[in-house]
Amino acid sequence: MFYVDSHIHLQDYTTQDVNNIVTAAKKNKVQILVNASAHPQDWNKVAQLAAQYPFLIPAYGVHPWHIADAPDNWLVKLKKMLEKNPRAWVGECGIDRLKNKDVASQLKILEPQTVLAREFRRPLIIHSVKADEILAKLFPLLPKRTIFHSFTGSAEWGKKIQSHGFFIGLNFSVLRKKNAAQIIQSLDFSQILLETDGPYQSGTPNEETLPQNLPLLAEQIAALKQISADELMMQLTQNWQNFYGES
Ligand SMILES: [Zn+2]
Repeated sequence: MFYVDSHIHLQDYTTQDVNNIVTAAKKNKVQILVNASAHPQDWNKVAQLAAQYPFLIPAYGVHPWHIADAPDNWLVKLKKMLEKNPRAWVGECGIDRLKNKDVASQLKILEPQTVLAREFRRPLIIHSVKADEILAKLFPLLPKRTIFHSFTGSAEWGKKIQSHGFFIGLNFSVLRKKNAAQIIQSLDFSQILLETDGPYQSGTPNEETLPQNLPLLAEQIAALKQISADELMMQLTQNWQNFYGES
């Protein structure tokens, strides 16, 4: 049994050294980390970290917050990144209507990334904020192995995602929701993964979330689901194998 941090941005830490972060994570049974990029300027750094640490899985994508500054050739470059590394995922990408009301321009960047993920048979990481209906329409375009990361949505939305076979990524932000228990209890735990989204989602200004805290997150989520932390860890290990099939 082990933990996987299914979503982190190691290149974004400002107060911690990456080597210390991953060493402490491993000591706390976090064996694999999916290191997500947000824009093409990140990609080389993400590739470099993946080369340095074999337990990192790189993800390359254009996040909806960064669509305006993506260079014209981003899609060609993304294809090359995926060709270079057969383990690489696509993401993070998605729709964020809280940050940007212009859905059309976000779709223009998101859709080609879903196509690439399917074409290359890679998992896809989706960032979805206030975009349930738009993304529901895109379900047929998404690869089977899609994860809706940093889920804080309604029980209904969670059910809809999972009924299509997609996974849900949970981090500390869900625990800050007033109806956290209801959300957690309504989810099918055979289709969840945990994540930190570090350095983000700490809930405390200027504090960077660390993957070594993943067992603590698991403990709190298990309590809300009324199962033991060990049971959850066993389920998560199985889920990882079902989602990614790499141990
Ligand atoms: Zn993220």
